[in-house]
Amino acid sequence: MTAPPRAPLLLTPGPLTTGRQTREAMLRDYGSRDRDFIALNAGVLARLTALVGGGETHACVPVQGSGTFAVEAAIGTLVPRGGKLLILENGAYGARMARICEIIGRDCDVLQWPENEPVSTAEIGKALLNDGTITHVAVVHCETTSGILNPLEEIAEVVSKHDRGLLIDAMSSFGALPLDVEGLPCEALMASSNKCLEGVPGMGFVIARKSALEAAQGNAHSLSLDLNDQWQVMEKTGQWRFTPPTHVLAALASALDQHQTEGGVKGRGKRYGENWRLLVDGMRELGFQTLLGDDLQAPIIVTFLTPADPKYDFEAFYKGLAGKGFVIYPGKLTQADSFRIGCIGQVRPQDMRDLMAAVKAVLDEMGVTSAAP
Ligand SMILES: *Cc1c(COP(=O)(O)O)cnc(C)c1O
Repeated sequence: MTAPPRAPLLLTPGPLTTGRQTREAMLRDYGSRDRDFIALNAGVLARLTALVGGGETHACVPVQGSGTFAVEAAIGTLVPRGGKLLILENGAYGARMARICEIIGRDCDVLQWPENEPVSTAEIGKALLNDGTITHVAVVHCETTSGILNPLEEIAEVVSKHDRGLLIDAMSSFGALPLDVEGLPCEALMASSNKCLEGVPGMGFVIARKSALEAAQGNAHSLSLDLNDQWQVMEKTGQWRFTPPTHVLAALASALDQHQTEGGVKGRGKRYGENWRLLVDGMRELGFQTLLGDDLQAPIIVTFLTPADPKYDFEAFYKGLAGKGFVIYPGKLTQADSFRIGCIGQVRPQDMRDLMAAVKAVLDEMGVTSAAP
């Protein structure tokens, strides 16, 4: 019998390639009221909170669904109906938060920066000074649109100085880059099971200040996305309000064990940093240019500008790489023509070396002599 072909490596912003051990953890069915499941669930939530130093002050409230469900739940629950959210936007995920506000009926203002520039703090202070009705500020830590890293500490300092609540979309950084809810400080941080934690998709979560969760009763626009209610019921019964993604939780428990074995946030960040370095250096050697300078870039996902050579074609490039076992991702930029390659998931430095050989081979097949934009 021949071995099944290896699934292609997902070099995307999620879902990602997961470890076999993580997938095997899903072989057991748990009932939602099962004592083993209740203990497993409580352990996962406590570990997630501890990863960002929120043990006493913050609680982790999970929601069924993808990361966007957690973002929508956080905005809808924590920003009161009469409140106002200031969104700091330099990419698609910031823009999505504005769309959420529009749909669920939360007042918002958007401060915008180009996709290749980090959010800058001077304008935030001015906006908060000028508009006393703003109750909360939202920002994306690593804007996965481009891969840019926003200066979280400086942003948190300004927001805290003006005494507003900060909501952080840490979807693509949680577990790989250091975050500290107390040190920042922040009111809530949103993330999901399937990015740098390397779990399977299906669960979003919000690590929120307990005092803010308590004050949020009756705010939510939605029954299923009401974090206050989900939290209260879970505190009382240990159970989710509606069918929990039991297999996702089991996989995440295993993924968290592996995260710890790898050296926690530091170890995970180190491997991604090595992947990133090999990727960027290798691609530059072939003539590719990155959208961002290394100083602005998170070691999570990298945006490359489309080569100018008329023989280059993204569809052919994509298919060629997929045929060699690597799935990359189209660009999501509104301005520059580009594509993206992720550094996260169960991807190791040797995979990046193999990828470089595959990229070179596919360019050769297309007859592209220079990948310069
Ligand atoms: C992945 C991601 C999300 C959530 O996207 P889903 O497709 O709903 O999981 C939100 N924000 C950022 C920055 C992300 O990278």
